[in-house]
Amino acid sequence: MVTRALDVILLGPPGAGKGTQAKRIAAAFELLHISTGDLLRDEVAKDTSLGEEAKGYMNRGELVPDALVGKMLAKRLHSQQAALGCVYDGYPRTTAQAVLLDGLLSELNRRVDVVLYLGVPDADILARITGRRSCPTCGAVHHVVTLPPIAEGVCDRCGAALVQRNDDREGVVRERLRVYGEHTAPLLKYYNARRILREVDGAVAPDEVFRRLREAMGNVSA
Ligand code: AMP
Repeated sequence: MVTRALDVILLGPPGAGKGTQAKRIAAAFELLHISTGDLLRDEVAKDTSLGEEAKGYMNRGELVPDALVGKMLAKRLHSQQAALGCVYDGYPRTTAQAVLLDGLLSELNRRVDVVLYLGVPDADILARITGRRSCPTCGAVHHVVTLPPIAEGVCDRCGAALVQRNDDREGVVRERLRVYGEHTAPLLKYYNARRILREVDGAVAPDEVFRRLREAMGNVSA
């Protein structure tokens, strides 16, 4: 039997838990996790020309231009690891990006199978993101209140010093929420019209969110 690739989008405001849940879904369904935020941060860390171009937008909480992000996405999508399907985390963020993804997938005889929307109120998001402390070395994410490291300021997993991402500061988070409302929220309509949108409450505990996401994916055939 030939199984078809599965392509899943996780949609939701910044701080909704897309990254955490995308990793779990990717592991459970053997999909490639594509986080455009992680890919961009990697380019910035490596000081590439793309990273140099993207850095200013990211620090201000603005969107990196579609063309730059699109190129990065296409490269990933054409890689061998993407053959069984992908979980898209932080992509698409504009209608133009959604159209690009549709085109890239259709070249591969694939389509977006399901869009999982994680809803979380703005006040929760601010508390979640501004308390977040990230490990620049291994990518682990802690939180000063809900997931404090054993030793303050030190990554539990690898021992590196934790940092607050520039764009996790309150003023920038507010701008990211504004940008989300203006450019990304309209995608809910775009996918709802296709009847592939499923909404899951992102404000409950992460294990419960995951259980509900799996349930929401239950009737998607791979
Ligand atoms: P994230 O980790 O997904 O919240 O992304 C962090 C930042 O990277 C965003 O605030 C944007 O500046 C940039 N970024 C990530 N994904 C995209 C995308 N699909 N389109 C434009 N900018 C993006």
